[in-house]
Amino acid sequence: MDACSQCGESVDRRYRFCPWCAAPLRRKLVEFFRGHAAIDSGRAVRVSRYVDEGHVRVSVWDETGEALAAVSLDELEAARLGRFLAPVPPPRASLLEQLREAARR
Ligand SMILES: [Zn+2]
Repeated sequence: MDACSQCGESVDRRYRFCPWCAAPLRRKLVEFFRGHAAIDSGRAVRVSRYVDEGHVRVSVWDETGEALAAVSLDELEAARLGRFLAPVPPPRASLLEQLREAARR
């Protein structure tokens, strides 16, 4: 158990974020994302967020465990990438379609 540097509560080391105040507990957060099964199976993208340094590193890995390429993004570009990757909401019905649907009820 360690003490959270933000709130001082005791926190198990396996947590990434303090369960009491949500402060990040690791200086580096890493996630792997598998490649598309039909297009890029055996490859993965690793995203590392360097919390204290304020940048994100994106790397492409193959099945041998070697990084094929990597690039570091500043926080603004990383946020823009996140917005780009976010699911696109379904198109809203037009006002006319909404009125027709309301009239049917
Ligand atoms: Zn805390």
